[in-house]
Amino acid sequence: MKILIVEDERAIAEVEKAYMEKNGYTADIAGDGLKGLEMFAAENYDLVILDLMLPGMSGVDVCRAIRMKSQVPIIMVTARSGEDDVVSGLDAGASDYVIKPFSPRVLMARVRANTRKEADSSDPQIIRVGNSLTVDTKNFTVTKNGEEIAFTRNEFMIFSKMAAKPEKIWSRDDIITHALGYEYDGFERSIDSYIKNIRKKLACPEHENGYIKTVHGFGYKVSEQ
Ligand code: CA
Repeated sequence: MKILIVEDERAIAEVEKAYMEKNGYTADIAGDGLKGLEMFAAENYDLVILDLMLPGMSGVDVCRAIRMKSQVPIIMVTARSGEDDVVSGLDAGASDYVIKPFSPRVLMARVRANTRKEADSSDPQIIRVGNSLTVDTKNFTVTKNGEEIAFTRNEFMIFSKMAAKPEKIWSRDDIITHALGYEYDGFERSIDSYIKNIRKKLACPEHENGYIKTVHGFGYKVSEQ
């Protein structure tokens, strides 16, 4: 497992790298966003640890650029505890986040959880919803009438889990626990914003709700209707 650390504070980057290596991972350091993108394009990394506050290109922009070509897990590191920063990072496609100062053990737990989610193969590879939607859980793609729809990683994790059990009602807590992993301590309102984005991407005249029904007072379910 090879990890890319994008972090401008050298001392922090070195601590992260040492900890990853102690736990059996290989890690490289990029001191800014552009360097990070350059290294990401040149090598095959299994996970990216990405500082939000970078000189020049911001962490959110780096995240977005990586997401345009890869579904690799991205753990955002933020010095701020503002809900908005976390939400914009997750919206840009980050898989998870830790808030500085964090203990290396917490970061390590997030790295393990996010690499484990990638390797989880207990679900079927191809899930069909109605006649027009196909979810491929190995290649992380959603296709509608044969056309691929671009999902962020978390949108994909949520929709694929829900689609695997059609008609099951998912509370926001269920979604956090089963689709995003129990280590995720995001906010319930980000679940609503994920659902909103998924609906927007899948909506069509026959399925105005994008195949996701709201069950008032309970949560959401995927439905062919
Ligand atoms: Ca920084």
